[in-house]
Amino acid sequence: MIASLRGADDLFADVVSQIRLPRWSSGRIALVGDAAYAPSFLTGQGSSLALVGAYMLAGSLAQRDAAAGFAAYEHDTREFVTLNQDQIGQGDAALFPTTAEALEQRNAMLRRLSVLPSATGRPAHSALTLPDFVPHG
Ligand SMILES: Cc1cc2nc3c(=O)[nH]c(=O)nc-3n(C[C@H](O)[C@H](O)[C@H](O)COP(=O)(O)OP(=O)(O)OC[C@H]3O[C@@H](n4cnc5c(N)ncnc54)[C@H](O)[C@@H]3O)c2cc1C
Repeated sequence: MIASLRGADDLFADVVSQIRLPRWSSGRIALVGDAAYAPSFLTGQGSSLALVGAYMLAGSLAQRDAAAGFAAYEHDTREFVTLNQDQIGQGDAALFPTTAEALEQRNAMLRRLSVLPSATGRPAHSALTLPDFVPHG
């Protein structure tokens, strides 16, 4: 792999970062998913946040006008998003262990994965119960 890296003419490297915005909407524009709150792959939650956010945004808009809908979407979703963005420390420790002992623990955990799927996710993953939105009649 290292030899291929040295010879590659399309090598790409980037920092791992999160997006944390003070507001998710302005006027008639609202952001969802990575554009509003990318949690980075260190949380493993990016797709979930994007899907939950899209559901909450659509449901909030179906019940109200844009301004009120955007406000409700952010009000009802931000706590869940922040909780999951804050998981970054755990993902970091799992993916990039910094001691030999932590590396061995991580590798042992990965070896068991095929026979020991996680029975329960982290509490942050299920911290939001999706509401049933009732569309306007
Ligand atoms: C290495 C890596 C590993 C990851 N691992 C996981 C994981 O294990 N689990 C997990 O849940 N998430 C993971 N993620 C995160 C996940 O991929 C993202 O959080 C998720 O895809 C965000 O969805 P999105 O729809 O918000 O954005 P995106 O999936 O980025 O979709 C945005 C789309 O908009 C398009 N676009 C951009 N500009 C324009 C334009 N001007 N006009 C039209 N289209 C445009 C793009 O081409 C793209 O298709 C990982 C991400 C990375 C980078």
